Amino acid sequence: MLTIEDLGILRDVHVTGEQSVRVTITPTYSGCPAMDAIRDDLKKAFATEGYKAEVDLVLAPAWTTDWMTDAGKAKLREYGIAPPSGMAAAARHAGPIRLQMAVKCPQCSSLNTKELTRFGSTSCKALYVCKDCLEPFDYFKVL
Ligand SMILES: [Zn+2]
Repeated sequence: MLTIEDLGILRDVHVTGEQSVRVTITPTYSGCPAMDAIRDDLKKAFATEGYKAEVDLVLAPAWTTDWMTDAGKAKLREYGIAPPSGMAAAARHAGPIRLQMAVKCPQCSSLNTKELTRFGSTSCKALYVCKDCLEPFDYFKVL
């Protein structure tokens, strides 16, 4: 199971009272539809442990795929989703030309892949197809 810690979304957890916590999360993408579900899941998870959770959304500094852990990237690959390739911070400092790294197929590891649409099943992902095994797959974009 891919956790919000793997994704680097979970920023902070503070115990604010005997049975209450304040959780800070940063959305992966403003308007990412998964965030409402994540917020509800967090509240539910804490509720089953007897805690009342306040969930704060913090937008700055903006989330970047650099916060994703290696474990998180490995799990994405297991789900057949290509993890972000390259570091967003490095891409930002590369000057006027943004380096587009080849996206590796999560099925056969081929670098011979092609972007089909900029926006896949969610706005955080792009839809790619592998030109070797012909499998379509989601690519988690570097942000
Ligand atoms: Zn492939």
